[in-house]
Amino acid sequence: MIVPHLIARKRDGGSLTPDEWSGVIAAYTRDQIPDYQMSALLMAAFLRGIDDVELEAIADAMLESGERLTWPEGGVYVDKHSTGGVGDKISLILAPLVASCGVAVPMMSGRSLGHTGGTLDKLEAIPGFRTALSLEEVREQISHIGCAMFGQTREIAPADRKLYALRDATGTVESIPLIAASIMSKKLAEGLTGLVLDVKWGSGAFLPEPERGMELARTMMALGARRGCPTVALLTAMDRPLGRAIGNALETEEAIMTLRGEGPSDVLEVTYALGVEMLVLAGISVGREDARRVLREALESGRALEAFRQVIEAQGGNPAIVDDPAALPQAAHQVVVRAEVPGIVQTVEPRTLGRAVVSMGGGRQHVDDAPDPSVGFTVSVQPGHRVTEGEPLATVWAADDAGAEDGRRAVRAAIRIGEEPIELAPLVSHRVTARGAANR
Ligand code: URA
Repeated sequence: MIVPHLIARKRDGGSLTPDEWSGVIAAYTRDQIPDYQMSALLMAAFLRGIDDVELEAIADAMLESGERLTWPEGGVYVDKHSTGGVGDKISLILAPLVASCGVAVPMMSGRSLGHTGGTLDKLEAIPGFRTALSLEEVREQISHIGCAMFGQTREIAPADRKLYALRDATGTVESIPLIAASIMSKKLAEGLTGLVLDVKWGSGAFLPEPERGMELARTMMALGARRGCPTVALLTAMDRPLGRAIGNALETEEAIMTLRGEGPSDVLEVTYALGVEMLVLAGISVGREDARRVLREALESGRALEAFRQVIEAQGGNPAIVDDPAALPQAAHQVVVRAEVPGIVQTVEPRTLGRAVVSMGGGRQHVDDAPDPSVGFTVSVQPGHRVTEGEPLATVWAADDAGAEDGRRAVRAAIRIGEEPIELAPLVSHRVTARGAANR
């Protein structure tokens, strides 16, 4: 295999055979191909496109780059994955919530990518929390408490672990086949009996247009069906941030507040919508109404919060943060940005705020960067809200004066005030199954 020849063929619009893709991905995973060659190949594939045969080969090679979780016969193992957004802390709420309803949730997640946050970085805002679990630890934890929240290791989907970090640093994230292969290789390695996908559209998503979100959903459903994993996708809005908090520790705090019954209504709506699908796939509930009732009862009774406490304790984190989320890392500088004019909030543009979190130190600009968990925003308004002059729009949480200034500028750019009445797009617009897509 001569890698420069493969790069040149892809660059010129040709295809790689399944054997070539599996050879390249296996060699890259074993550190036998340098990052510069893999980056060039990814960029060529990004620009020239990846056909269906190549996509299946890439997804298979990524899945087969590591081990797969196996479970005792007859069990039910369900997970969800989001395609990425700003303020999307749903996994932190949903995994313990669904586990507390009696479904095993082995949740393997990613780190922040581009302007979007990552579940692992949010969990690691909890002092001591360990996301690098071995497969043995995952199995053990699932058998005892029904939920484990972990990252790709060298054992499971190691190809995605390397490729994900490389794509983040080389402008090759926003590709339907690359996103689909990345997500599905991880999820299929979990040995699931059901998978729910949260496919985001809007300027805070990797694919802003709803039609491309739908295409991504269909692409992932096809990979799931091919491997016999029942998969359902919901299309959800990311044209504004989800919830109020953006940034690792702030989002973890908001997730805990939601598990305590004090979360924002949009976070709750998306959590319930995805949770309903997970319970129905797991066979715990026959209908959506029943599933919603079961979820609400688990949340309101405190069982879901208790499940999160157990996960934190089992993974070495400080469980006291469940009672006192203010004990999470706090940024030294807090600046309130206020409306300069009265009017109606026209936009709370998520990508601008997500990018600002990265520039303030809360994400990664280089593969090896360690994000500062404390920085970010708490946003007080949504598009359509009427504000008076001087009313708080958002608080910037920054590590230093320069970060505070970056954050303040980002709030001014993201939150525009005008006179037009605004109608928000539905948070959950479509449900996609193997049978097709339906409005919700
Ligand atoms: N989430 C993933 O796991 N992979 C991607 O490529 C994008 C979002």
